[in-house]
Amino acid sequence: MKFNKKLENIKTYEAGKPIELVVREFGIEPKDIVKLASNENPYGTSKKVIEAVSTIVSKMALYPDDSMTKLKNGLSRRFGVGVENVIIGSGSDQVIEFLIHAKADENSKILMNSITFAMYEIYAKHIGATVIRTASQEHNLDEFYELYKKESPQIIFLCTPNNPTGDALDADKIYKFLEKIDNDTMVVIDAAYIEYATHKDSAKALNPSDLIEKFSNVIYLGTFSKAYGLGGMRVGYGLADSTIIKELYKLRPPFNITTLSLEAASVALEDEEFVQKSISSNFIEMKRYEEFAKEQKIDIIESYTNFITLCLNANQNSTKIANQLLQKGMIVRDLNSYNMNAIRVTIGTHEQNSRFFELVKQFL
Ligand SMILES: *Cc1c(COP(=O)(O)O)cnc(C)c1O
Repeated sequence: MKFNKKLENIKTYEAGKPIELVVREFGIEPKDIVKLASNENPYGTSKKVIEAVSTIVSKMALYPDDSMTKLKNGLSRRFGVGVENVIIGSGSDQVIEFLIHAKADENSKILMNSITFAMYEIYAKHIGATVIRTASQEHNLDEFYELYKKESPQIIFLCTPNNPTGDALDADKIYKFLEKIDNDTMVVIDAAYIEYATHKDSAKALNPSDLIEKFSNVIYLGTFSKAYGLGGMRVGYGLADSTIIKELYKLRPPFNITTLSLEAASVALEDEEFVQKSISSNFIEMKRYEEFAKEQKIDIIESYTNFITLCLNANQNSTKIANQLLQKGMIVRDLNSYNMNAIRVTIGTHEQNSRFFELVKQFL
């Protein structure tokens, strides 16, 4: 059978291996498996969310409230934006898909960092757009500007903090960059880990209402999958000028967020204590990784997120080490597919991290 030619050179997104797969493949008991591969919140989900969702499970027979009023109002209050500035996606992934389809086509160029979130490229390829990348590993906004002038892309992706490297941009640099970009070029600010960055360094904090008010070409993306502990519920959002949101709405399938997910996200937004506790524990544990790397003489990239990237030495092979860890039930992310001899590890709970150190020491 012949398929859409645009799909020919798309590599399927490689998600962090699920625990179920490791159980099947290696016959390891689920209780002995530690997954530090997808940057989920290791402290789980707020109890308030679990209670709230439990009380509405019986409503499953009915379609969800497609106006998503409760969650939109929550986001509107949290960020000081109008409800007309909000779109909710099945993960912010889905908002990325909408915005690429809304703004670009097969004649378009899409500019992104050399190493960044893999889904930008996959969605760009769906529509046959050309992907342009900067050279440096970290976001270098001078390089972005050079390529913007040279290539005239339709969309620019800034991922701050960046996945899979963990570095983040200063807000004032982002503003200076945005001032030089014309109004017809869409700039996406993917802030999936911004809650962590804000906690660590206020220079990295972003104010989405100010951003979208000043720049009608900016769309700010956030997610409930990371700090908010709702990876399994699939809820993300985009905040932008209403002219952008209106176009994205044309691409949204009806009922794209389930009743349970809408409730979970709405309640999660109100339990800031859970989120802040998760974030402060994250940075306490991250210190242990920094010390471990020093001990083992491995480089790390300073991280503003809930993961850390260990850049291995030339005599260590990231794929081999990730596989050895996997056979012991420890799931981490090999960055070989990004041409890095590195592994990305989600900062887990104290016990999970201790287990990681103990195992990886044997393989380094
Ligand atoms: C996790 C992640 C997302 C989106 O995750 P969803 O679960 O789809 O909301 C977006 N961008 C980056 C950089 C991420 O790491």
